[in-house]
Amino acid sequence: MPEGASFCPSCGEDVDDSCIYCNECGKEITEEDVEKYNQLSEEERTALREDYLRKKSEEEAEWETYQKGQQERRQQELEQNAVREAQEEALNNEVAEYIKENITFDCKLTVSSSDSSINIQAKFVEAGYTLTAKIYHKDKATALPKFVQALTALHEAVGE
Ligand SMILES: [Zn+2]
Repeated sequence: MPEGASFCPSCGEDVDDSCIYCNECGKEITEEDVEKYNQLSEEERTALREDYLRKKSEEEAEWETYQKGQQERRQQELEQNAVREAQEEALNNEVAEYIKENITFDCKLTVSSSDSSINIQAKFVEAGYTLTAKIYHKDKATALPKFVQALTALHEAVGE
């Protein structure tokens, strides 16, 4: 900091003589700027200070608004994920129930789903056979009865 200066010429903050950059606003303190600042009247210095403080509080408010927005978006994402997971689980259960209701034998069923498809795995534990199918959501009504038919045929062939 240039000799004789005790206020930052950018923000008007009281600063240490050894500073090159202002601790308050982070701006470089140049001799030229200090000279200009020293020529200001008391009112102009007060105005400069007030202007800086107003801008600072505006920036802080903007940052807070931004942070809040980010938080809300994260919250919405979590809620949407929870809804989607619940929908997938309900669909998985519905498919498993449908299969169980339409077969008269035991098998180990695993159902999972994605945005586009339902993935079914039916295992005859003792026989060691597994039937898997990937069914697109739009084909569910026709594909599920066919899967049950295929599963029944496999059961007849290999047992449980
Ligand atoms: Zn400053």
